[in-house]
Amino acid sequence: FHVPIAINEPIKSYAPGSAEREDVLRQYHAYFKGNVDVPLYIGNKEIKTGNTKPMSPPHDHKHVVGQYHLAEKKHVEQAIKNGLEAREAWANLAWEQRSAIFSKAAELIAGPYRDKINAATMIAQSKNIHQAEIDAACETIDFLRFNVEYMSRIYDDQPDSAEGLWNRVEYRPLEGFVYAITPFNFTAIAANLPASAAMMGNVVLWKPSDHQIFSAKVIVDVFKEAGLPDGVINVVYGDPVMITDTALASPDFAGIHYTGSTSVFKGLWKKIGDNINTYKTYPRIVGETGGKDFIIAHPTAKPQQVATAISRGAFEFQGQKCSAASRVYLPKSTSKEILELVKKDIESFNKPGSPEDMSNFITAVIHEGSFDKLAKYIDQAKKDKNAEVFAGGEYDKSKGYFIEPTVIVTTDPHYTTMETELFGPVVTVYVYEDKDWSKTLKLVDETSPYALTGAVLSGDRYAIDEATKALQNCAGNFYINDKPTGAVVGQQPFGGARASGTNDKAGSMQNLLRWVSPRLIKETF
Ligand code: GLU
Repeated sequence: FHVPIAINEPIKSYAPGSAEREDVLRQYHAYFKGNVDVPLYIGNKEIKTGNTKPMSPPHDHKHVVGQYHLAEKKHVEQAIKNGLEAREAWANLAWEQRSAIFSKAAELIAGPYRDKINAATMIAQSKNIHQAEIDAACETIDFLRFNVEYMSRIYDDQPDSAEGLWNRVEYRPLEGFVYAITPFNFTAIAANLPASAAMMGNVVLWKPSDHQIFSAKVIVDVFKEAGLPDGVINVVYGDPVMITDTALASPDFAGIHYTGSTSVFKGLWKKIGDNINTYKTYPRIVGETGGKDFIIAHPTAKPQQVATAISRGAFEFQGQKCSAASRVYLPKSTSKEILELVKKDIESFNKPGSPEDMSNFITAVIHEGSFDKLAKYIDQAKKDKNAEVFAGGEYDKSKGYFIEPTVIVTTDPHYTTMETELFGPVVTVYVYEDKDWSKTLKLVDETSPYALTGAVLSGDRYAIDEATKALQNCAGNFYINDKPTGAVVGQQPFGGARASGTNDKAGSMQNLLRWVSPRLIKETF
């Protein structure tokens, strides 16, 4: 049995004057003025607790587009209970039946839900239309389609048998439920973390980020319309500590699928460790966490190519991709030219503004906490002797959390913003002496507690080879002559090592295998 071979969803251009641009704007406006009321989804119920929080776009934070209802402990317990009640029927459904639901979900997003999921992502996370399209529409579709194909390969993969006996593997779901905690920055990740565990026959407790609720709701609508049975994915929001403590205290907790900060992930490991004797099974712990992603240019790299890698890699979606370039190493001989080209790029962007104006490349950062933190580092760089704000550096939060794309140049390779994860449109550049290429590679390795993405740009094959070897532990996704963002499902499975995660590549067979507990059956005749 084979499902259709997955293909990547073509990216729409939303060119000025196109019907697709008009359509998504219409949906944006409808959502923007609407009053969206997002319940908890528990079993077959949509629960409105009455204890709500408003939802506001980061680019217009005084404007309220709706509200979402917060769970109490009893709701989380109920969600776990409903999940466990749904588990047997779901786990015993043939995988072809399960896969059909997720294939249908992909086609719904490719068709009638495309504008909805893109517009919700533009509002909730302040993505410009192009970033919304590659994330919310295309990558979500790709995750679903490719994972269905990987499922088919997994269930097909059976051991050899010998004469007089046969062997068979049952790829059974985990014994219990999976807890998915998803981030604000990718709607596709929010959909994929619960969906990939559910595809493999698991029931899921899903806690989306408070800053992504609007687009999470569209994902739930899609899954429901695709026919996902009640109770398979239960959705709760509210106090994250309470929700997590409740989930991890359950003896049926069987795995966590996480994307978010390193510190929260380390906290989860500790809590899981503390509760280890309560669980029926060793929980699967799968996480993608922080990064301090680098670009390193060799003197032979083409200046324009490096500049584009920086301005795209550091500033797409306001630098809020885990994969975003946040520290750059430039050779002295070409550094001036590269920096001037980056400045020119930044000057060609409009001032940060609303995604409703589709010519805006940069919009707002996700919330006030993030804005304040970034502003503090920019101010510090303006004062410090060993740093200079070379481009950008202005910010204003009166209407939205707007920060200009900012380039800091430092003479200290250990300067705070070379080493601290900022998660915003701020990139720091260190200029090295051309003769120090090998020394600089060593420096990058030594200053990489994280290992998510990295890029090397060079026209010299020996230099590329040297960097690939020297930086082998510094990036789970390593890019040669490219920017470090924009992994495509089915082409560049994504994930990092060291403090960046367990490297169970999102959108891969390896990831899906974490959600099964295979049983080998040998029968002799
Ligand atoms: N997969 C995304 C990329 O390659 C990054 C995912 C993330 O931010 O977690 O840009």
